[in-house]
Amino acid sequence: MEVLSVASEAFPLVKTGGLADVVGALPAALAEQDVHVRTLLPGYPGVTDALRGGETVHLFEQLFGGPARVIAARVGGLDLLVLDAPHLFARRGNPYVSPAGQDWPDNPLRFAALARAGASIAQGLLPAWQPAVVHVHDWQAALVPAYLHYDGLPKRAGSVITVHNLAFQGQFPTLLLSSLGLPPSALSMDGVEYYGSIGYLKAGLRFADAITTVSPTYATEIRTAEAGMGLDGLIRQRGGMVQGILNGLDDDVWDPTTDKLLAGRFSAGSLAGRIANRAAVRTRMGLAHDAEAPLFAVISRLTWQKGMDLLPAIIPTLLAGGAQLAVLGAGDGAIEAAVQGAAASYPGQVGAVIGYDEALAHQIQGGADALLVPSRFEPCGLTQLSALRYGTVPVVARTGGLADTVIDASPMALAAGVATGVQFAPVSPEMVDAAIHRTIAIFHDKPVWQKMQANGMATDVSWRDPARRYAALFRSVAA
Ligand code: ADP
Repeated sequence: MEVLSVASEAFPLVKTGGLADVVGALPAALAEQDVHVRTLLPGYPGVTDALRGGETVHLFEQLFGGPARVIAARVGGLDLLVLDAPHLFARRGNPYVSPAGQDWPDNPLRFAALARAGASIAQGLLPAWQPAVVHVHDWQAALVPAYLHYDGLPKRAGSVITVHNLAFQGQFPTLLLSSLGLPPSALSMDGVEYYGSIGYLKAGLRFADAITTVSPTYATEIRTAEAGMGLDGLIRQRGGMVQGILNGLDDDVWDPTTDKLLAGRFSAGSLAGRIANRAAVRTRMGLAHDAEAPLFAVISRLTWQKGMDLLPAIIPTLLAGGAQLAVLGAGDGAIEAAVQGAAASYPGQVGAVIGYDEALAHQIQGGADALLVPSRFEPCGLTQLSALRYGTVPVVARTGGLADTVIDASPMALAAGVATGVQFAPVSPEMVDAAIHRTIAIFHDKPVWQKMQANGMATDVSWRDPARRYAALFRSVAA
């Protein structure tokens, strides 16, 4: 089966978050399910630079204010269709934000152009290739199903939209409607109108044949007013067309037996290599080399969503329990300052690296004892998956994908020998404190702790099962 994937980022070409990991990894996993994916990406400089060759398969004389073309090429295992539209995409740096730190003012047109091209390809624009399904990701591609609807042509491809984070919705002024090439009738509650604006994600949720989000629990949560961020009514209305499919982990990138970023490699059968990673992290973070102290770690965007504002309140509990804390992250300035302040106040016990550091992230996963993930909401989450695979015990909020991927060390789970981590809810300093107490108690019960590590490392966090689910869904909506 042939599938067109439409997205605004794909690892390793352009990445700002987990979306890129999914868009980059899913095609290879789907190939094993006899699904062939071509990925339509905007032609940012980072993408067009990587093309080297490629074949122009379509020319647009005009696409939202300038000429454009579609280039077909294979890059890094991905079968790409690149929308080369220099007036929209020939800008270096972050794909959404100008060097001055503002969203590009023409973002509504840039991503409408991506969706317009995607919808046209789904409707047979390329004479040599007809997809049976178009799979669109997040608000940046979400106008595809709306264009398919308002074009009013006989349908040649089914459509699936995947929501990676409902917090990002793409809301723009209604006066743009005609420049997007949508008819006046589209501006209704049954169309693309959303609280007095044009809602891109809303439009995708309204018109796609099927909706997925990145974990079953998040798929349930977003039906409620608390987590639905204004879209819960529509999501409830789409009812059975909404399902959750967990993200996987790229198990070539995250393999503790071969990972070149680690100071020591290891396997489930022999964890000795973890000692070198723990030492490397302690040295880098200025932490005391204390073999008895459980090492808790955080690898995260430092934001409210991730519960990172709670760190100062819970550090005393950690230290009272004889534990250490290593924080790797960047984000909210106030939280960055608070974390740096804690590291200064508790030298040797709290360490912080502010910034993005792929190698250090791997070493932390390969050396820490516990990974703390106190997210207020979490569509799927990837750090707890790499923690499981690397023998770090995840201590997570019971929400979204965290609830679905970690088995709490409840008395029954411990008795059955299936626990992989610790869960808590709701996200409050008291509940995090209680979870830390529980984790430290288990840490000192070595046979139980080692069993939890082994269970985590034996958990299948790969793309295999998710890919089977996507393939089945694509077959059910294929035109
Ligand atoms: P998000 O909501 O940020 O996408 P995820 O858990 O889904 O959260 O994915 C975050 C990814 O980015 C993980 O693979 C994590 O290891 C990585 N990451 C987050 N912050 C950092 C950092 N400061 N340095 C290195 N890697 C990071």
